[in-house]
Amino acid sequence: MSEEKTFDVVVLGGGPGGYTAAFRAADLGLSVCLVDKQARLGGVCLNVGCIPSKTLLHAATVIEEAVQIAEFGVDFAPPKIDVARLLAKKDAVIDQLTSGLDGLCKARKITRLIGRGVFKDATTLTVTGPDGEQQVHCRNAIIATGSHPFVLPNIPDDLRIWDSTAALTLQTVPKRFLIIGGGIIGLEMAQIYSALGSEITIVEMLEQIIPPADKDLVQPLFLKLKKKYTILTNTKVTAITAAETGIQVSMEGKNAPENDEFDAVLVAVGRRPNSAGLGFDTLGGTIDARGFLQVNERQETNVPHVYAVGDVVGEPMLAHKATHEGKVAAEVIAGRKAAFTPMTIPSVAYTNPEVAWMGLTEKEAKAQNIDFAKGKFPWGASGRALSAGATAGVSKVLFDNNTGRIIGAGICGVNAGELIHEAVLALEMGATAQDISLTVHAHPTLAETFAFAAEIVDGSITDVLPQKKK
Ligand code: FAD
Ligand code: NAD
Repeated sequence: MSEEKTFDVVVLGGGPGGYTAAFRAADLGLSVCLVDKQARLGGVCLNVGCIPSKTLLHAATVIEEAVQIAEFGVDFAPPKIDVARLLAKKDAVIDQLTSGLDGLCKARKITRLIGRGVFKDATTLTVTGPDGEQQVHCRNAIIATGSHPFVLPNIPDDLRIWDSTAALTLQTVPKRFLIIGGGIIGLEMAQIYSALGSEITIVEMLEQIIPPADKDLVQPLFLKLKKKYTILTNTKVTAITAAETGIQVSMEGKNAPENDEFDAVLVAVGRRPNSAGLGFDTLGGTIDARGFLQVNERQETNVPHVYAVGDVVGEPMLAHKATHEGKVAAEVIAGRKAAFTPMTIPSVAYTNPEVAWMGLTEKEAKAQNIDFAKGKFPWGASGRALSAGATAGVSKVLFDNNTGRIIGAGICGVNAGELIHEAVLALEMGATAQDISLTVHAHPTLAETFAFAAEIVDGSITDVLPQKKK
């Protein structure tokens, strides 16, 4: 690369935030250099996050469904699981997607650099990688360096104590498997390892699993999981020691054993931004107490011409937030009028059943003193759910009583992660309960349950017992 070249944009980090920003900037006619310390693009999401976890979860769901179909009179023999082939499939999916990104990059004539980038000044980065050290000059920079797993203090350094990246390698299938953290990573990994044969214990310090979601929304999942796993809520791990026989764990909580031993432990208690050591602070950039870079709705930091997107700028740490922010940063640099101002960013736990929510939760609406109406439709009353053996579910929707408009929704059930997008669109379009009720939904579908929840608020529901007159 010519030492003299000055790029319109240098993007630091090739995850969903970074590669999307780079592609959009190139499509808008800007010269772009994309820097990542890894040779493979895709960041956490493609390499050790969304995609590998969903590939393994697919196998886990099929294993579970093969058991559940017995209630329809169809019996399968217990599965023979070839972990090496399962891993090879996971790796093939990752390879296909990451090499696809290489092609997309090439087609856009984006310059790629492999190495760790650090700001020397606002328009120069020093990149240190396999080819040594080089200076990259730019008119604008986008920081998209992502996040890393939070490590609990005082944890021994032992190969049997894993973070999510280690758990995705399936190095062993532990018999007794402890998961610390009943959030999304904890529950998705529990499902994978349970299907492969582990006995799962989950320790969650708060009073419910997936704490940000409403408790009644998570309940169908919780009721199903508690038949298979030991779930210890309101419980804290107080000490962990590595013994030859296993990892010994002390706990404190209402129903928790004082001590227990496990063959492996996954720590899944959240992630932290990769904001240290970038040189951003030396540029006078603002970083908050939790380590997130501060940006406005145009993804601008307080350092002129330096933008930031994705996990490094704050929660929710989700790939779809990162990609949308990446587009905004690129468009602003290209002189377009753009801002990241979505009405909601949906969340999905890819458990079985899935849990998905968007807009305000009921607890948030109450905390904000919003006068709202709620429609809640249990999937046990859905013909499609019954015929698919998928009655563990609920669809819930909230409407503001003053404006009549939807303010939030949650779906727990098979394919909830797909179904929630109707609610997202309804929120963005300002739909009312009547708008949704009058939208004809095909029968029999799981999507009908969302319309039925709206019909409950609209007063036009006929699929449940007659409603009390308002
Ligand atoms: P990242 O994907 O973290 O990418 C950052 C990139 O920056 C990396 O490639 C890194 O090598 C590079 N980098 C960092 N520092 C430097 C530097 N100084 N120089 C050069 N390069 C650098 N989200 C979802 O929406 N759906 C899911 O289903 C989902 N599942 C997940 C499952 C797991 C197990 C995990 C861990 C996460 C999951 N996530 C999911 C979260 C998702 O992966 C992240 O929100 C997303 O990857 C963030 O994208 P990003 O571009 O901000 O950063
Ligand atoms: P999380 O914040 O979703 O869940 C962590 C859980 O651990 C919380 O419930 C928290 O109360 C609990 N916890 C924290 N400290 C604890 C302690 N000492 N003992 C017991 N419990 C404790 O974090 P995560 O599950 O690690 O996931 C990290 C991020 O990755 C998430 O914020 C999410 O944005 C992203 N992610 C998303 C998906 C998805 O979209 N499907 C999947 C995986 C990860």
